[in-house]
Amino acid sequence: MTGYLRPATLADAVAAHAAHPDWMVLAGGTDLMVNANHRSAPPGIVDLCGCAELRGIVRDADTIRIAAGTTWLDIIGHEWVVAQVPILAAAAGEIGALQIQARGTIGGNIVTSSPVGDSLPVLLALDATLELASPRGRRDVPYRSFTTGYRTTVLAADELIAAITIPVPAAGTRLAWRKVGTRAAQSISKVMAAAAIHVEHGLISWARFGLGAVAERPIRAAAAEAAATGRPPDADTGRAVAVALADEIRPITDVRSAADYRLEVAQSLLMRFVINAGKLP
Ligand SMILES: Cc1cc2nc3c(=O)[nH]c(=O)nc-3n(C[C@H](O)[C@H](O)[C@H](O)COP(=O)(O)OP(=O)(O)OC[C@H]3O[C@@H](n4cnc5c(N)ncnc54)[C@H](O)[C@@H]3O)c2cc1C
Repeated sequence: MTGYLRPATLADAVAAHAAHPDWMVLAGGTDLMVNANHRSAPPGIVDLCGCAELRGIVRDADTIRIAAGTTWLDIIGHEWVVAQVPILAAAAGEIGALQIQARGTIGGNIVTSSPVGDSLPVLLALDATLELASPRGRRDVPYRSFTTGYRTTVLAADELIAAITIPVPAAGTRLAWRKVGTRAAQSISKVMAAAAIHVEHGLISWARFGLGAVAERPIRAAAAEAAATGRPPDADTGRAVAVALADEIRPITDVRSAADYRLEVAQSLLMRFVINAGKLP
């Protein structure tokens, strides 16, 4: 490796990335460094760590905007995140251990786009939007349209993620998140599920279910969402959601889990989320 740039502004980071498309874009490095010894060294590094614009959380009346280089540790304890979108703080708290949380960033998790990326089902349930920056300007991409397949996304070669914008959930929205792994802490997920369920006058007016580790990429469970809509948040609806889910996901068997176990766990989680949504005031 011969080149190293540490841009101080987002504009400089975009320019550096565009000028050196074959250089590694480095945030926390917690994904990139895992296989570093088994790959050829990149010709250079664009290190985003010095870019203040890529770190921090701001809020307006309707949204919370998280800069892409914000670490999990910053997210876990942030008062607006905890108050408005606690499922993101909960997912962040289950990513690795303290060392990983202190280095790893939300932008890195999104670009790595692993089917077991823990924040990704949460971003689906919260209907987050990504702000992408390139020399051609900025564009917004709903996170639900960002991933295209196994670790593939619509991010163009010259684009960086600048920020993630999350709408503040409307009153009456119940949020839920659960990661299931081999142990309570520091495990790679077998299944993760996140939900935003809006209850009005005793009925579910809409639901968003985000799931991880049950497909080649994080997915929204559209049929399960439809099965919940217009019904009371109770056990019958939970069962209808589980039946719909069985028709729409085809989990795989791999070293971490078996397909039928993954389906059963995903069904149980969504069922529980629906029933619990009915118990909350
Ligand atoms: C021991 C260990 C435990 C882990 N546990 C978990 C876990 O429990 N759950 C989980 O989901 N993940 C886990 N991870 C994976 C990793 O920590 C996360 O995915 C983390 O969020 C990655 O962020 P990063 O900043 O370190 O990314 P990096 O490694 O710096 O980058 C990852 C990718 O994103 C790109 N990138 C980063 N920022 C941007 C940007 N702003 N714009 C464009 N491209 C960008 C990089 O070029 C690279 O392709 C673990 C990793 C380790 C090593």
